[in-house]
Amino acid sequence: INLFCIIKMSESLQVAVRVRPLNEKERLSSQSEAVTTFGKVVSVRDSDQAFSFTDVYGVSSTQEEVFSKSVKPLLENLFKGYNLTILAYGQTGSGKTYTMGTSGGEGRDAGMILKSIQYIFDRIEVSTDCEISVSVSFLELYMEEFRDLLASTHLGSNNPLDIREDGTGNIIVPGLTEIAVSNPEETLSWLAQGSQFRKTGATAMNVVSSRSHAVFTIKLECNHLDGSPATVSKFSLVDLAGSERAKKTGTTGERMQEGIDINKGLLALGNVISALSEQKRGRHIPYRDSKLTRLLQDSLGGNSHTLMIACVSPAAGNLQETVSTLRYATRAL
Ligand code: ADP
Ligand code: MG
Repeated sequence: INLFCIIKMSESLQVAVRVRPLNEKERLSSQSEAVTTFGKVVSVRDSDQAFSFTDVYGVSSTQEEVFSKSVKPLLENLFKGYNLTILAYGQTGSGKTYTMGTSGGEGRDAGMILKSIQYIFDRIEVSTDCEISVSVSFLELYMEEFRDLLASTHLGSNNPLDIREDGTGNIIVPGLTEIAVSNPEETLSWLAQGSQFRKTGATAMNVVSSRSHAVFTIKLECNHLDGSPATVSKFSLVDLAGSERAKKTGTTGERMQEGIDINKGLLALGNVISALSEQKRGRHIPYRDSKLTRLLQDSLGGNSHTLMIACVSPAAGNLQETVSTLRYATRAL
């Protein structure tokens, strides 16, 4: 067995893999599970390769396990002034939206966004050194254009948004709606509203939502009681576009262009994360290669912690995409 080990595991960059269960259609067509997990290792059938990650979640893993093991320990960083980013990567149908909870989910199905929001508001209650105000924004990046998912009128949201960098290295999107929230219920209602808009917007056909990146951002502003300057930390929860190759769809024209744009963002993201993981001083980090990486410039590397959750299907029919996701995720370590 040829095991790709974690040679240098940086604290600020972690990669977890989650294998979703076979779905009903796959079970009915007697597809077998072609992906095996053991400890922190994932192996795939008919291959002598095995892949090792920070954490690995098998087909019977629960949302609670993923949250308490991979996400919860990172949340305290937000209260120390660090930015935190969680990215869900994988082919369409691999469990990105389910795991993140970008379009809701209750009880056992509640995803990382909901669980994080509940944790954050509980944590704010016991914060003794600062008064914390919370705001949210929600945007979608489709074909290198942003859409504001919380814009008060959906017409206005079609105005393309731009990215700027302020004097201190923070990335801002002028005109992006930011809404102050004071409890989990309010926060979740904005998540629901944005995700509903994502599904029903004029251009948001099903295919679009699988080909766009959705970024839900929770901003914490900490006003220190001792009078020291306020600190802001950003928590970005990113439901990435499907990673499947454009050529597989066999289409041309606009659809093909979509595929190319998405691959550009995911490719650039892979390059940025891999450059960051090498942590060589003075090394050029190619943030400017796509809008996705520009947007996340102040949330990847530097003053931030990043968790990538690579989602894969266990079905034999998806093996090729699964291996390509595992390879992509390995580059980050
Ligand atoms: P993606 O966002 O990657 O396209 P989804 O999150 O929409 O994929 O998942 C596809 C389907 O599989 C959905 O019906 C979802 O509820 C289901 N699913 C995904 N992951 C799991 C899981 N770990 N447990 C149960 N169902 C899951
Ligand atoms: Mg999805």
